[in-house]
Amino acid sequence: MTSVTPQPAKHKKARALKPSSRRPAKELCSECGLCDTYYIHYVKEACAFLNQQIADLETKAHGRSRNLDHPDDWYFGVNQKMITAKKINPIEGAQWTGIVSTIAMEMLKQGKVEGVVCVQNTKEDRFQPMPIIARTPEEVLAARVNKPTLSPNLSVLEQVEQSGMKRLLVIGVGCQIQALRSVQNELGLEKLYVLGTPCVDNVNREGLQKFLETTSRSPETVVHYEFMQDFRIHFKHEDGSIEKVPFFGLKTNQLKDVFASSCMSCFDYVNSLADLVVGYMGAPFGWQWILVRNDIGQELLDLVQDQLETQPVMSKGDRKQAVQQSIPAYDKGVTLPMWAAKMMGVVIEKIGPKGLEYARFSIDSHFTRNYLYLKRNHPEKLEAHVPEYAKRIVEQYKLPD
Ligand code: FAD
Ligand code: SF4
Repeated sequence: MTSVTPQPAKHKKARALKPSSRRPAKELCSECGLCDTYYIHYVKEACAFLNQQIADLETKAHGRSRNLDHPDDWYFGVNQKMITAKKINPIEGAQWTGIVSTIAMEMLKQGKVEGVVCVQNTKEDRFQPMPIIARTPEEVLAARVNKPTLSPNLSVLEQVEQSGMKRLLVIGVGCQIQALRSVQNELGLEKLYVLGTPCVDNVNREGLQKFLETTSRSPETVVHYEFMQDFRIHFKHEDGSIEKVPFFGLKTNQLKDVFASSCMSCFDYVNSLADLVVGYMGAPFGWQWILVRNDIGQELLDLVQDQLETQPVMSKGDRKQAVQQSIPAYDKGVTLPMWAAKMMGVVIEKIGPKGLEYARFSIDSHFTRNYLYLKRNHPEKLEAHVPEYAKRIVEQYKLPD
């Protein structure tokens, strides 16, 4: 009998790209980090912007893909349950109440995983992402709060395989998770948990600076910000003060090119492939919105259930007219005078969509905008890149040519 020398997996012979090299997805690259590792070997199949394969990956991760006969599936993806929740004792300095960080810390404390992929910031810059594999709850805690910039979370994947780690939790946004799902069987893991957040309108570090400088009264003191359900952006400053700027008063003409091209071409706002998703936009103000996509997601949620106050999801209002009106306004880069923007914000907040209907409003507005962006800038990608569920969402509206 001849002995066979085990061959290293093919990907180990591949070379990560240098930071300065152009990525395979070119300007659509979201800097997810995959190409910073030898898993670049799989990029043609795995990259969310080269090979949109959400339906297939949903089947692998959740046992089924979206049911296209159900509009709620178009919007929210495969899920067993949706609830709204907040931590009874919120984590100071978290983006919302810190449900994501709490789950990840519990996973380590209870020995369910050996590491957590998450993203801290560099010492010099609170908004410069620094992905890590956290091995202690303290390291997870230090990764709390959004880095509102493209973050190469998957750049640490080589370290996972090299460390011999067998059980891992990854926290990430949709494009990162799509690539992760494609390569998850190559990581040498026995168990993978995926905890996602929704994501939209992300920017690179320079884009973030421009956004802050055009929109906030004091860009250098912003600690975090969020596009809120009251149709305003809430900037939290170092001194704890909150500055509110109405969406309708944004200088759209100056901000048109700020968002990354990847985010202008993204149709995975709600992180379709994560086991559990924690956001806010389907919840009343102050609450977080949780989607349990499969049994693994339920296992993640169960870990912190006793630390949460929960209530059922609700839905109120009708978004359709507001979305239809926002389409040409955004397209033409119309900016309202601040007094009119404030007034419009107040009226819409009173009579506008709430709960899940607000989430649908936000999804509709972004998908119609992104569809137009793709049609104008990458028409050759339109057919294959836009998932079937997103086409159905967009078809509900009249779009300019
Ligand atoms: P925390 O406990 O503060 O933990 C935040 C976690 O996010 C950390 O573990 C960190 O590792 C991870 N993280 C931070 N920045 C990034 C990044 N750039 N890429 C990947 N992971 C990151 N929710 C909505 O409902 N609607 C939205 O439109 C929406 N937009 C978002 C845009 C961005 C860029 C991001 C990162 C998140 C967005 N979210 C959105 C999710 C929401 O803002 C909160 O992150 C989520 O509700 C969790 O809050 P928390 O207090 O539990 O998180
Ligand atoms: Fe590579 Fe990720 Fe960029 Fe695609 S999005 S080219 S996988 S770094």
